[in-house]
Amino acid sequence: MRAIFIAVGSELLDLDRVDTNSLYVARRLREKGILMDMKVVVGDHMDNLAWIVKKACQRAQLVILSGGLGPTEDDITREAVATALKKNLVFQEEIVADLEKIFRRRGITMPEINARQAFVIEGAEVIANPAGTAPGLYVDSGSCKVLLLPGPPNEMIPIFESVFEKYLVPVANYHIYTRSFNLSGISESETDARCADIYRKYRNPVTTILASPGVIELHFLGRSKNSDEEARRLTDELADKVRERLKDFIFAEKNISLPEAIVQELKNRKLTLAVAESCSGGGLGHLITNVAGSSEVFLGGVIAYANSLKSGILGVDEATLKKHGAVSAATAGEMAVGVRRLCQADIGLAITGIAGPGGETMGKPLGLVYIHLSAENFDKGLHQIFSGSREIVKTRSIYCALNLVREYLKEAMGEGQ
Ligand code: AMP
Ligand code: MG
Repeated sequence: MRAIFIAVGSELLDLDRVDTNSLYVARRLREKGILMDMKVVVGDHMDNLAWIVKKACQRAQLVILSGGLGPTEDDITREAVATALKKNLVFQEEIVADLEKIFRRRGITMPEINARQAFVIEGAEVIANPAGTAPGLYVDSGSCKVLLLPGPPNEMIPIFESVFEKYLVPVANYHIYTRSFNLSGISESETDARCADIYRKYRNPVTTILASPGVIELHFLGRSKNSDEEARRLTDELADKVRERLKDFIFAEKNISLPEAIVQELKNRKLTLAVAESCSGGGLGHLITNVAGSSEVFLGGVIAYANSLKSGILGVDEATLKKHGAVSAATAGEMAVGVRRLCQADIGLAITGIAGPGGETMGKPLGLVYIHLSAENFDKGLHQIFSGSREIVKTRSIYCALNLVREYLKEAMGEGQ
């Protein structure tokens, strides 16, 4: 079954409103094996909307619209769908009675314009809206099922859910199985280069690579007309091959963030962590402390932005600062060692760099960041030159530092200890 979603509303085109309804609907449909293969945003324009609904109904077996069911002049979804399906709109007295009841409960008389919401597409089923005034409509026009939902998500969701169970789940014709990997320490293009030859051979499962600063997600979605088991087998076959190529970078196979994975790993190994942050300004500590239960392993840290704190609190040698500068491998190393000693932690982790947009010096470009991990009988430092805005450089630095912890826990400590 092909599904198309049409988000209706001029505010979704150029004001700061974003269509989130389609994401909710797509996720729910996917869980039951119905894939949404297209979505469109259309302003409140009768001709455009009728045109796109007509096209969508020719192409898909399920067309879902949200928005434009309100009482005002710009709410034209009912009329546009009726035009597209060549059906009449019929006025239903019962709906007016229901609307009047809703307004009476609110202690006001129904404004006259709300009566527009009582027009129903011929042959449509009216779906009650427990959270608002605009009822949903469901039209089964033979080759295509059309569902009209209100725009506000709190109204859209319950109406969608009631129709979903009743009409859509029974006709779902695919079994779906998904897997995903979260990776760090590797770029999007490198991820692709390492596994594209494998996943390109498969049209089913579908592979998606998503990138955000510091983390790459790989998603696999397999489908089968026959059974859950077959969907799973297809997905596993591809995912396992890709996993073999990328296993050094995968930190989670579930929806787990890198800080969550690291906190868990530190707990497993009963190790504590302390951080010394310069250019990341506390962001590393912030991400770690976002993880519930991080207090078991995270002791704290120092935001040593000024050199006086780097030397005064962390014990970075003033001669080091003078000779190599605050943004240097030597300073990062002494910061990590210093915070580890100060906090009596098993692991000290330090970041110092130039987040930009100003501040570059001869030989030290914008985005140059030094990261250092210090532990018992172990020291590792690295540097990177990150591109992007100040915020992105900070975020990438933080994820790079977290990745260093991940690698340390995996390699230096020995896997599975
Ligand atoms: P409407 O049903 O067209 O009167 O929409 C009312 C309000 O619902 C809009 O102003 C938006 O704030 C919200 N809304 C409409 N469409 C969407 C959508 N696709 N995703 C999320 N919110 C929406
Ligand atoms: Mg609207």
